[in-house]
Amino acid sequence: MPRPPEEFTVPDTLSEVTRRLVQDHLSGGPAVPRARPAELLGALIRTILGQQNTRAAADRQYRALQDAYPRWEAAVLDGPDGIEATLRAAGGGLHRSKAISLHGLLSALEAHPPDHLLSLAFLTGLGDDPARRALEALPGVGRHTASLLLLFDLHRPAMPVEGNLDRLARRLGWVPDSWTAARVERWYDAVVPRTVPERLALHVAGVRHGREVCLSRHPRCPACVLADLCPSAALLGPG
Ligand code: SF4
Repeated sequence: MPRPPEEFTVPDTLSEVTRRLVQDHLSGGPAVPRARPAELLGALIRTILGQQNTRAAADRQYRALQDAYPRWEAAVLDGPDGIEATLRAAGGGLHRSKAISLHGLLSALEAHPPDHLLSLAFLTGLGDDPARRALEALPGVGRHTASLLLLFDLHRPAMPVEGNLDRLARRLGWVPDSWTAARVERWYDAVVPRTVPERLALHVAGVRHGREVCLSRHPRCPACVLADLCPSAALLGPG
């Protein structure tokens, strides 16, 4: 049964919080070039490798795949075991599950009529919603991975929400603690202005804020530019 539309309220502090986060973490704004059509598949593979992985490990794994497979067709032929061995040699984690996801993704594209190309260039010709549906239909691509590719590489107004942005919304009192992560993501998507620059800015600055200031266990509230707007500042103490 389709979910009934939810009523979400835009918080009074959203624009001021965004302004301060951008000023504090993104002098000059986020410089994120749009991916060329031929780069989209590589960008998706890089995004999948980045899930639950450090950036350095994901970069190493991606370079190892490129060295091992000058064309992605070679990875399909090598199979999940070969991809896993390549990822394992590069370090990082979740070799088996990522190898299975990547092989499933490449195999699905290869089986995709009419052209059977290992490419995601077709996404550039689709509207925002059809592009999301096409991405989420691929093996190993969930909503969050699709949102990352849509926003960062296709410059579509998606709003990926990971742990840092989720925590920020709860601590600022924008959403109740009882909400699920999926509901918080729907909330962000409903209330943040639907423009690529604003969504890129809030995502990049919010993630940096969560990593550097609004830490999960010991938030640095006295050093936080949001302290006078944040109902959690007093509760969470001096950090
Ligand atoms: S004041 Fe503290 S809890 Fe609130 S956003 Fe800043 S660091 Fe996080």
